[in-house]
Amino acid sequence: MSITIDREQCTGCGKCLKVCPGSLIYKDEFGKSYIKYPKECWGCTSCLKECAFGAIQFYLGADIGGQGGYMQTRKERDLLHWTIYKAEGETVEITINLKDPNRY
Ligand code: SF4
Ligand code: SF4
Repeated sequence: MSITIDREQCTGCGKCLKVCPGSLIYKDEFGKSYIKYPKECWGCTSCLKECAFGAIQFYLGADIGGQGGYMQTRKERDLLHWTIYKAEGETVEITINLKDPNRY
């Protein structure tokens, strides 16, 4: 499994459902998203890129050099924050200004 969804952080905006190419994400009776078929997720990161509220955790497995850390995204007006939580405890934040995305 590549992602989990934190239902406390999920606002139910529905963007992740619309972009998942495998239609793996659904809403529960409270309007919160959950991944229905976690074993089918191949980690494309489409849902992660759309989640403005840090509700999706994308696991950085050893196969991509992540050694068990994870990544979340959050939007703040024109700023997109990518936060990487490394397995050893270090946190790295990358901020991209969406009005000038090629600068990073
Ligand atoms: S994009 Fe994020 S906040 Fe919106 S429904 Fe999906 S998990 Fe919830
Ligand atoms: S990482 Fe890709 S395949 Fe997996 S749940 Fe998100 S959008 Fe779907």
